[in-house]
Amino acid sequence: MAAKILDGNALAKKIKTEIAAQIKRDNLEVGLAVVLVGNDPASRVYVDHKKKDCDECGIISHEYRLPASATQNQVIELIQALNADSEINGILIQQPFPAHIDVLSVNEAVSPYKDVDAFRTDTVGKIAVGDYGADSTTFLPCTPAGVMELIRSSGTDICGKECVVVGRSNIVGKPMALMLLNESATVTVCHSKTADLGAVTRRADILVSAVGRARLITADMVKPGAVVIDVGMNRDENGKLCGDADTAAVAEVAGFITPVPGGVGPMTRALLMRNTLNAKRHSHE
Ligand code: NDP
Repeated sequence: MAAKILDGNALAKKIKTEIAAQIKRDNLEVGLAVVLVGNDPASRVYVDHKKKDCDECGIISHEYRLPASATQNQVIELIQALNADSEINGILIQQPFPAHIDVLSVNEAVSPYKDVDAFRTDTVGKIAVGDYGADSTTFLPCTPAGVMELIRSSGTDICGKECVVVGRSNIVGKPMALMLLNESATVTVCHSKTADLGAVTRRADILVSAVGRARLITADMVKPGAVVIDVGMNRDENGKLCGDADTAAVAEVAGFITPVPGGVGPMTRALLMRNTLNAKRHSHE
């Protein structure tokens, strides 16, 4: 295997250790509300992981469960109560929602000061104009921000590189492309209507796949030495967790690759913890 593995677990652990040290040093009480609507088993697992991350960081996790039959108004009323609760610094509404609930309306109901998942539409706008950075109160969407850290950990200079993002969702693909563009990469975004995906991905020095389809990215679609970041979370035919890339084969060609599990997933959660701490730090502004 040629590629070096970008270890998301190790990097996430480092970030969480730093967060825990800051919370302890400054004697902070930081609260994250996690709202789960319905009984999606995968969502249950994600929520449990986030609770464990909170425990590791010294963040108090407050869990709220609503039945799958909850109305949109009930969800929004809960969010409004959490917006007004001074013990809650960040609010996370675990997705996917039951079909009758409008994702955009729920996302927009979260206070911009507590939107630690950064799913509000104005966040994408702020990222588009580059309104973020060390002193900004803008939260960065956790998955793309985690991907940026993984790319940086490879030692790759993003400036001037050909970057291809496969997937154009509002929460991963689009903000990802904007963040790479802000780092002066030359960015191409692919999606389900892209005519010849392999022809585009083969140009990529940095390839980020956020689709949700097992083995979409095969070795012949990857430029030798490329950094391959696999955001996808899928189950293979044996029910085993896997990404979008045919990892073993792609690793023969790529320079760096993220594993699934153990790549982007833990980084997403670590960045959620960082956003929650930042929300606390800005809560008195
Ligand atoms: P969405 O379903 O919202 O978006 C998927 C994107 O993939 C769409 O833009 C779609 O195109 C595109 N697409 C679908 N099929 C193809 C294809 N054959 N070729 C090229 N593009 C295609 O998913 P998300 O962005 O929410 O998530 C993507 C994946 O990342 C999922 O597996 C999800 O589970 C995972 N994920 C992982 C996270 C982590 O922390 N590891 C966090 C968030 C997501 P079109 O727009 O044309 O329909």
